[in-house]
Amino acid sequence: MKMSVLYLGPPDTYDYVQSLLPETFEVRWSLDDSVVSELIQDCDIVLDAYMKIHFSADRLQSAHKLKLFVTATTGADHIDSTILEKIGVPLLTLKGQREALRDITAAAEHSWLLLMACARLLRGALTEVLQGEWERNKFPGVMLRGKTLGIIGCGRIGQWMATYACAFGMNCLGYDPYIELWPNNIIKSQLDELLNKSDFITVHVPLSNETRGLLGSEAFEKMQQGVMLINTSRGEIIDESAFLSGLQTGRVGAAGIDVLAGEPHISNHPLVAYARQHNNLIITPHIAGFSPDALRQVLSFSCRRIIEFFEAGDGRKN
Ligand code: NAD
Repeated sequence: MKMSVLYLGPPDTYDYVQSLLPETFEVRWSLDDSVVSELIQDCDIVLDAYMKIHFSADRLQSAHKLKLFVTATTGADHIDSTILEKIGVPLLTLKGQREALRDITAAAEHSWLLLMACARLLRGALTEVLQGEWERNKFPGVMLRGKTLGIIGCGRIGQWMATYACAFGMNCLGYDPYIELWPNNIIKSQLDELLNKSDFITVHVPLSNETRGLLGSEAFEKMQQGVMLINTSRGEIIDESAFLSGLQTGRVGAAGIDVLAGEPHISNHPLVAYARQHNNLIITPHIAGFSPDALRQVLSFSCRRIIEFFEAGDGRKN
């Protein structure tokens, strides 16, 4: 009897996933919400590299055969982990898998792209040329060398950001109360000090009860006038109405974000409305970590975890 794996990920990686698993695993694929609801009822394993489909209590409780949920992502707030625990299904995420993740730099590279795009007002400059204009005085670039980057959350992505910042001659301040081995290229700082001293602030913490709304109106008041803000972690970590006010008052000079609260339903989002009218806000659709190179690495790691899980006999219930 084959084990049934429900795989959610780009269609062109289906064959790759099947090739990573022994013949005793049969991979089924869908990115359609209602098809996923149907397939999950008869699957042994979910392998999720998509994140845009929510695994709610109802959906998970209907998965009577489910033995293992593996997500090839660090964030797992799209999965009701409390219900998984209740029904006795282990959830394996990439969070904390430092060895496997260390060399996956896609999210950090995209964060850096957003930082540089802010520094050079890139969005406005590109639009200018497309409109047949060539007025460089409108786009004074901020030189990075000698500036201070404030890194909130100095884990994997935060530390890559520090590496890039050092290469550009920037100074790094970091706020992270939990890190054990402090990186020597980041100066340890309290949050208020970081907010107050940074020319650029970049956010790389997981979403939790503690980090939800971590940057609220008080935090924005402490930031330098014209600060540039990057967020590729989760939209909910920044109080988006305080963020919008910051953009409107000029406290935030430019921002680059890859995440929004309530994504993917964003057409009426106030920050998207602002970006339609203003060039100093760049929003990308949660693509920072999404790169075929990175995806192949995490899929390979996740499939090895599935095999090991069943080899160890952990999946023998039912
Ligand atoms: P990580 O676990 O390596 O690092 C997160 C760091 O945040 C840890 O060092 C932790 O100590 C710190 N932290 C936790 N709570 C904190 C708090 N209250 N204040 C300050 N620091 C705190 O994770 P990572 O791989 O660097 O990823 C960071 C986040 O980026 C993920 O949780 C995920 O939400 C997001 N992410 C987004 C994308 C994307 O495509 N946009 C891709 C990958 C990761």
